[in-house]
Amino acid sequence: MGETEAKAEFPFDINPMYEGERVRKSGMYVELGGVNKPGFELVLFEPDPAKINDGEVTLIGPDIEDMEEGGLYAYAMIYRVSGEELEKDLEAVIERRDHEYQGYIQGYMHLNQRAEIWVRISKDAVKKGLKSLKQIGEATISLFKAELPFIEKMEATYITDEETVIQKLEEANQIYEARDVRSRGLHDEDVDEFYQCSLCQSFAPTNVCVVTPDRTALCGAMSWFDSRAAARVDPEGPNAAIPKGECIDPIGGEYTGVNEAAVKLSSGEYDSIKLHSFLEKPHTSCGCFEVAGFYIPEVDGIGWVNRGSKVSETPIGLPFSTVAGSVGGGKQVRGFLGIGIQYFYSPKFIQYDGGWRRVVWMASDLKERVGDAIPEEMKDLIATEENAKDIEELSVFLESVNHPVVNGVTREVDGTKITEGWTKKEEEVAPAAVAAAVPVDKGLAQVPMTQVMASGAPLKLIFKDANISIGKLIIKRKGEK
Ligand code: SF4
Repeated sequence: MGETEAKAEFPFDINPMYEGERVRKSGMYVELGGVNKPGFELVLFEPDPAKINDGEVTLIGPDIEDMEEGGLYAYAMIYRVSGEELEKDLEAVIERRDHEYQGYIQGYMHLNQRAEIWVRISKDAVKKGLKSLKQIGEATISLFKAELPFIEKMEATYITDEETVIQKLEEANQIYEARDVRSRGLHDEDVDEFYQCSLCQSFAPTNVCVVTPDRTALCGAMSWFDSRAAARVDPEGPNAAIPKGECIDPIGGEYTGVNEAAVKLSSGEYDSIKLHSFLEKPHTSCGCFEVAGFYIPEVDGIGWVNRGSKVSETPIGLPFSTVAGSVGGGKQVRGFLGIGIQYFYSPKFIQYDGGWRRVVWMASDLKERVGDAIPEEMKDLIATEENAKDIEELSVFLESVNHPVVNGVTREVDGTKITEGWTKKEEEVAPAAVAAAVPVDKGLAQVPMTQVMASGAPLKLIFKDANISIGKLIIKRKGEK
């Protein structure tokens, strides 16, 4: 990707080195979108170039200079694009690049995608002369056109008027939904290639994003169709085909081609990934996932909480932000997983670990949102914060509804019983193994220690408010006796 020069008229620097720059609350002039206000970004393909006023930015609502310092505002960015090589499939691809290119703007933080966008403008940027969102829009359009030459004409409408954002958001949600539905008819076994995406490696260098028909990107912004279109039109860009190779494990979704891509993309950090597994060789997670999953060893089940959830705490005592901290960073973390909302609709949804039969808890707003993806027989068996606020309440609930985890989960796809259930566990598991499975601190080390140690993954221990006295501490190099 070529270096992009800041235009002389912009009062801010534009450079890829600002990608990943964070604007903290203390240094923030205003916040747009995020969890407090509605927001979205949308790219629309216009087949008739005459209908695009190239380079024009329209603003509906208050501009930066009219905003109160420290204020929170709604925000929508709608781009219309045309070009001979363009097609509708590329809308989502171009839309996802908004995150990348706006990240080049100094003092402007852009996070997430679709209706989850979260933007902050820094006080420093305003001090240096950033007065108008039109300046941001013009800079963004010039970046898009410089980096993606197949965009011949582009115009933008930015909206900060909250009522208009809410109204337009409904239309945007219908467009996102139509894109997602299209992907649901195609499956991993129907194609010869998957696609990699390295867009988030700027802040999560070992992240390995693999997009398949049955596993939409964890950011939710790239389906297999979108990735294919991106690879075709921008072969030097972040999306490239991964030949599937041989299928090593059809249930876990492990392919030789994906494993080779994992080695390459993570610079050797990971050598294998099971696309449809939660606990063994899981997919890595950068920071953009729409939903974070967490294993709860006490009940041998899995919980899910979404970004922007109204639920302040999961039953492991942590909010989304803290769970997300354990999931993200481009790591393969056993016991935690970041996914896109669409993955709940996949027939291969964590099928290696029992799929929906292993799900014990969901934030109520998430459960409601993906209600039509949950198998009928599981709907009443999955707790929300209304049934269980902590692990004790969760255990009581699961027993009362006779959730599959209580007596052991049988994997639907091959009929294999993959967990023993609680009763058997209590009877048969040796005391030492039980002790090892006890969390170090409620919610902070929820994966059994034996599993973590066996995985060979780096081990991170966090002690909260702890008084520790150590008689002797021995640290050895790996392999040293
Ligand atoms: S989360 Fe993955 S698919 Fe989405 S933009 Fe980042 S690297 Fe690409």
